[in-house]
Amino acid sequence: MAYWKDYYTPTTVEEAVAILARYEGKACMIGGGTDLLLEIQQGHRPKMDALVDPTRIEGLQEIVEEDGFLVIGAGVTHTTIVNDERVRSRGTCLVESCGVIGGPQVRNVATLAGNIAHALPAGDGTIGTLALGGEIQVAGPDGIHWFPMEETFIGPGKSTVDAKQMMIARIRFRPTGDQEGSAFRRVMRPQGIALPMIGMAARVQLQGDVIESCRIAIGPASKVPFLAVETMKFLAGQPPTSDTFAKAAEVALEEVQLRTSPHRASAEYREEMIRVQLPKTVAKAVERAQSGQAVPEGVGA
Ligand SMILES: Cc1cc2nc3c(=O)[nH]c(=O)nc-3n(C[C@H](O)[C@H](O)[C@H](O)COP(=O)(O)OP(=O)(O)OC[C@H]3O[C@@H](n4cnc5c(N)ncnc54)[C@H](O)[C@@H]3O)c2cc1C
Repeated sequence: MAYWKDYYTPTTVEEAVAILARYEGKACMIGGGTDLLLEIQQGHRPKMDALVDPTRIEGLQEIVEEDGFLVIGAGVTHTTIVNDERVRSRGTCLVESCGVIGGPQVRNVATLAGNIAHALPAGDGTIGTLALGGEIQVAGPDGIHWFPMEETFIGPGKSTVDAKQMMIARIRFRPTGDQEGSAFRRVMRPQGIALPMIGMAARVQLQGDVIESCRIAIGPASKVPFLAVETMKFLAGQPPTSDTFAKAAEVALEEVQLRTSPHRASAEYREEMIRVQLPKTVAKAVERAQSGQAVPEGVGA
């Protein structure tokens, strides 16, 4: 049985939003369909009368530099992100996080916009973008506006961006500059089941021998993709030493809400993994900030 009746490929953002409005909640946005179609097939969400695909909208298949940001269109796949030299060198944690999603078949069609719109606490691309300070451009009944992405997550799989009325048109972040670096790491079962046991990303700005500022995102570590604000505050002004990184992991453990997922990992295991992996993640971001060199690691074949 068909999972939808009509499939639209609008050519403007305004047209996409108008189609959603016309269907009054019986149409929704689709990116690569790697989450959405499985959920409909498995009965976790209702069939739709129409799907709206943004990949034919001019400019939304591209990554461009604009007003000091790297801007990623809603139609951009994880593969395109992984192969983009600008993101590899100046948004390295995003390449590392998109580069471990599924296998090549998934990454060739799945989009970063779909990963963020799904709002899962452990979405890999979401964690990478959050650490970079990502913002999303949302188009809907109230017009087109940019939001810091952390403001849009409201619960597990729940976002203020209602894909039946609104679309994420673009995602943007300020690329890392002088004395800045970023890194992402995740722990996964060998035969991974779509989401990690734990994943984390860090963006670090150094000022000489001191960490000037740092952003850290961890997932799953809360009901929403989690920005470790207390850990970020702790790291600001500290020397970039292994002792600092170990203490940062303990601060993070105070602020996360870890839970046991039956198929992925226990809360206790996740705690140990934060203790081991967070210092390595921050250390890698610092190493890249110090050397000015960033070669993404762990990207899937
Ligand atoms: C085998 C397999 C392995 C996977 N492994 C991973 C993994 O390791 N890590 C991980 O994070 N994820 C993983 N996933 C999940 C999925 O592939 C990613 O989350 C992917 O980025 C989703 O993007 P998509 O374009 O396919 O989204 P879709 O499935 O098209 O959409 C997902 C949700 O976002 C909404 N949406 C899509 N585009 C927009 C838009 N522009 N504006 C507003 N709403 C929108 C849809 O309505 C839907 O609710 C895996 C999936 C599969 C099938």
